[in-house]
Amino acid sequence: MKRNIRLILLGAPGAGKGTQAEKISAEFGIPAISTGAIIREAIASGTEMGKSAQSYIERGALVPDEVVIGIVKDRLAAPDCAGGFILDGFPRTVPQAQALDEMGVEITDVLSIEVSDERIIDRMGGRRVCKKCGATYHVTSNPSPAGDKCGVCGDPLTIRADDDPAVVRSRLEVYHSQTEPLKDFYAKKGILKVVEGQEKLEDTTALTFRALG
Ligand code: AMP
Repeated sequence: MKRNIRLILLGAPGAGKGTQAEKISAEFGIPAISTGAIIREAIASGTEMGKSAQSYIERGALVPDEVVIGIVKDRLAAPDCAGGFILDGFPRTVPQAQALDEMGVEITDVLSIEVSDERIIDRMGGRRVCKKCGATYHVTSNPSPAGDKCGVCGDPLTIRADDDPAVVRSRLEVYHSQTEPLKDFYAKKGILKVVEGQEKLEDTTALTFRALG
């Protein structure tokens, strides 16, 4: 019997949170919730929330707390979260983490995937994403089996606008100043584990599964 995992994945942009979230989701049968993906979908479909979030995403800034907190509150209320879930990209600020506490959400595990800034900048240039189904790839470390098309749904792969090197640098600054303090926040609660991101994706996955017990 698998335990009910309510997991937060921390880590810099491009550390591999989304990829590991997909693996954990498949292994444990729980949904992976990416606030970034939800916001990108809202932008693509032109909703009010999408329109208000677009300028933040494009310059690598954080979308205001109240917007993302609202997104997560709604999503966690869905029935598929009852057996556990993975939060990929939320919380990203201390007020967001406090909001989760105030919602009465009991997080069981927090994994911080650690990768140096230099490696992140190297890596981001090779990231490819499927806009249709959200699958992510890397041209060398995690290529799509379908070449420049998505291995899951067959749509053409694209490069995220905010993977531009200048935007990546600001996203890293935002990560260090606003999100990294969350490691301390969760270490104090005794639920933080650190996973050193490895060169090979499957090695990081092995460490991630080991950390989840
Ligand atoms: P991600 O796909 O997680 O790298 O997120 C892409 C972008 O979406 C970020 O750079 C932010 O602009 C926005 N975003 C995603 N999650 C959050 C969050 N929890 N708080 C604020 N902004 C977010």
